[in-house]
Formats: sequence, C-alpha cells, structure tokens
Amino acid sequence: MRTRVTELLGIEHPIVQGGMQWVGIAEMAAAVSNAGGLGIITGLTQPTPEDLAKEIERCRGMTDKPFAVNLTILPTIKPIPYEDYARTIVDSGIKIVETAGRNPEPFLPLFKGAGIKVIHKCTSIRHSLKAENIGCDMVSVDGFECAGHPGEDDVTNLILLPLAARRLKIPFLASGGFGDGKGLAAALAMGADGINMGTRFMVTKEAPIHEKVKQKMVDASELDTSLIYRTLSNTARVFRNSIAEQVINIESEPGQTKFEDIQQLVQGAKGRELFDTGDLDQGIWSAGMIVGLIDDIPTCQELISRIVSEAEEIINERLTKTVSG
Ligand code: NAD
Repeated sequence: MRTRVTELLGIEHPIVQGGMQWVGIAEMAAAVSNAGGLGIITGLTQPTPEDLAKEIERCRGMTDKPFAVNLTILPTIKPIPYEDYARTIVDSGIKIVETAGRNPEPFLPLFKGAGIKVIHKCTSIRHSLKAENIGCDMVSVDGFECAGHPGEDDVTNLILLPLAARRLKIPFLASGGFGDGKGLAAALAMGADGINMGTRFMVTKEAPIHEKVKQKMVDASELDTSLIYRTLSNTARVFRNSIAEQVINIESEPGQTKFEDIQQLVQGAKGRELFDTGDLDQGIWSAGMIVGLIDDIPTCQELISRIVSEAEEIINERLTKTVSG
C-alpha cells in the first residue's frame, strides 16, 4: 500500500504505533519499525531528557528503519521540563515527532528548524485545522473510541474521519478503534492515509507489559473500558478495573472533584507497577474500545502483515466485487 503517510514517513505500511506511556520503549518501537510500520518512543516514559537520549540510541541499535518520539503535553503530577525533552529529541537526530495534548506551536520553530516532520494528535476537527495552520505536517485524528485522552467532544471516527478528509489538506492518520484489516480498509475509505494503533500494539509479544495484562485485554469485551477525569475536563479512557470504578464513584459524589481526591489511585507510577507485576488492580491503564476486537497475542510482524493482507483482500475482493456486479 502506498499512501501520503508511507511516502512522507518513509515506511512500508501505513500503520503507526501510538505513543503509549510506559509501553513505548526501544523494544516496542523497534519491533513496529522492523515490521514496516512506524514505531514511537514515548518521551515522558523516560525519567529525564538524558535517559531519553540513551533510549533513542538503544532503539537505533535495534532497527535501521525510521522511528519517532512522542511528546505529550497534558496535566501531570510532577512538572515536566518539556523544553529540555524537545531539545533532546532534536539533538538526537530524530526526524519524526508525534506531539499530543496541548497546542504544539511553541515547539514548532525548534522542530521544523531541524527538518523534523511533526504529527499532532487531535481529538477534534478544529484542533486538526489549527495544527495544519501552524505548520504540522500531518495529524492523527483520535476518535472517541481511543485509549487515553479522547477530549471532551465524544465524536466517533465515523464522523471525524470523513470530516477530516473534507477539511484538511495535510495527510492524516485514523486513530482510535483500529486493530484489524477491516479497520484499515475502512480508514482508507473514509479518507485517512493510514492508521495509528496503541491498545492493539499493547497486546503483542514484544509489548513490555506483564502477560496477565495482555491476557486480560484478550478476554475483554467492547464494554470493558471506562471514562475517568470527566469532571476535571481531562477525560481518559482506561481499562475498567476496580480502581477505575473507585475513581468514577469519587467523581460522581456531589460537588466538584479535586484531583487530589483521586491522585493516589491514578498516579502513573502505579500504572507502571501494574504493567510490571501483572497485579490488575494496582492502578489504572489506558485501553481503547478495540479491546473488544482483540483475541490473540501475535508478534508485531504477524500483526502488521495480517492487517495489511486482510485490508488488501477486502479492497481487492469484497469491495471490488461489490461494485463490479
Ligand atoms: P501522572 O502520573 O503525572 O498523572 C496521572 C494521570 O493524572 C494522567 O492521566 C494525568 O493527565 C492526570 N493528571 C495529572 N495531574 C492532573 C490534574 N491536575 N488534573 C487533571 N488530571 C491530572 O502522569 P503519567 O501517567 O506519568 O503520564 C505522563 C503523561 O502522559 C501525562 O501527560 C499523561 O496525561 C500522558 N498520558 C497519555 C496517555 C494517552 O493515552 N494519550 C496515556 C497515559 C498517559
């Protein structure tokens, strides 16, 4: 498949890995890139900019294919030296950056000056148009189905993607709810130039998380995610476990929820321990509605090959026969 995404990013297949906190380490990114997609190292998973520089070098030791770094700008418990992370990305010679969260405009002169292609993750058309206007090269349009932060508008990809195709000039990825060849074919049909997958890549052999977490997502249905932080206007879709339910209960109490009321439950450090130990009620973890369509734990190579061949078959066989009578 050749699309504006494969051309612009220099990759074989139009499949990009989401920038997942605690999951996007060198092994994960390299596995996706070696399988012909675009792997992404999650910047803030590394505790310091110096650690990020080392992680980028480690990834270079595992793949000679393109890979990117994600920089997410959202509320955090500890202040983050974003400028230093951005400078490290540039100094490390990275050529593709995925930004997410707040407006990436302050970082664009630095990134564009270094010849970096910037993909901004957006949960609405207005943010996508803004990203195009300020000079981003591509957007990743993140529908309501997605894991992590879907924004506050609750519009699904069936509406967002055709709207993005109508309004945007720059290429865009479809993100949220994708994990198989049907999804890829549908995304291309709706005007996207490729797909971005986070949750689906968490359930692969190479994902650096405990087998129990992967198996829990294999066993899950499409009803097993929850929205938390709604009352804080920082909504996140996470796997529905006892901690997510406690957070929702606290948020449904009368009066405005304060972040301090839930901080102990949701802190990222506990989510990381959960990924390491497989104790499924130790914290929260991001997961999208696609868990309902995940039923195995393949390698990244197997997964990407399968998605591409299924999409090609749908396009060449089912859809072609549909129109040729
Ligand atoms: P953390 O431990 O600092 O915070 C835990 C969670 O609480 C995060 O989701 C954060 O956004 C939220 N949070 C923190 N302070 C808040 C406040 N004052 N009001 C409302 N919400 C608040 O974060 P972490 O788990 O170490 O993650 C680091 C960064 O990565 C954060 O920016 C986080 O949002 C982001 N992240 C993104 C995704 C995604 O799917 N896009 C998933 C996980 C984390």
